[in-house]
Amino acid sequence: MTFSGKTVLITGASRGIGAATAHHLAALGANVVLTARSAQALEQLAADIGPQAKAIACDVSDYDQVKAAVDLAVAQFGGLDILVNNAGLLAPVHRVADFAPKDWDQVIDVNVKGVFYMMHAALPNMIAQGGGTILNISSGAAYGVLEGWSHYCASKAAVLQLTRSGHEEYAAQGITCLGLSPGTVATDMQVLIKASGVNPVSKLDVSDHIPASDVAEAIAYLCGPAGADFAGEDFHLKAPESRAVIGLPAR
Ligand code: NDP
Repeated sequence: MTFSGKTVLITGASRGIGAATAHHLAALGANVVLTARSAQALEQLAADIGPQAKAIACDVSDYDQVKAAVDLAVAQFGGLDILVNNAGLLAPVHRVADFAPKDWDQVIDVNVKGVFYMMHAALPNMIAQGGGTILNISSGAAYGVLEGWSHYCASKAAVLQLTRSGHEEYAAQGITCLGLSPGTVATDMQVLIKASGVNPVSKLDVSDHIPASDVAEAIAYLCGPAGADFAGEDFHLKAPESRAVIGLPAR
């Protein structure tokens, strides 16, 4: 598979799944626009990848910053072919009545509004150039609830509906909009989950999680021609048949 000549914007690229995806897609030939709030980590990643990478600090909960990141992709590389909406937050973990409303709001602002803002800013460019792919990172939390995660479960259920909306409204204009539910992944997010001590996910061992590089391979697969087969819904990487189709070893 090659992404030569394609431009990909990745949110939450400063670490974890986003950084692994940036490395992998760049190795497959893509131009990568790296966004997150941590400017220094992004600059280091861009330097590691080389001239096909551009970094721009961007808080996805701020529409002006989102628009500036999309504009940079178009200005630097002449268009935007693929958007990977990966930025996400989970902490803090509390039951509903114990949450500070501002903490609950922040997760919705990043996980939900951030995805909407990016889709809103990217779609006109993709439509004008005849098509594109939007991949939203979902979660098992879009389907089931876990104690202490009301904010995260509500946010990922909303992301799934944004994926379905993107497909419903723009498939006819050449937009492939789909989701990816990765299962549990060995990133900083799981370190925070473990520290919370709440609900069964915090009891998992690090060996239970897949590496971020597996998710990067799945993202590359879904952002290629095969993605059209999964448009409008989440691809569930945890399923053995999903790993097999990507060429990942069984777990
Ligand atoms: P990490 O915590 O390692 O990375 C999260 C990324 O999101 C960072 O790059 C962070 O960058 C970025 N981010 C957070 N807030 C903002 C913001 N306001 N604006 C822009 N970027 C932001 O987590 P993962 O790599 O594990 O998570 C990536 C995605 O995968 C998330 O959507 C998560 O919900 C999802 N996911 C993860 C699972 C797991 O087990 N790890 C399981 C299922 C889904 P910075 O702080 O620099 O802004």
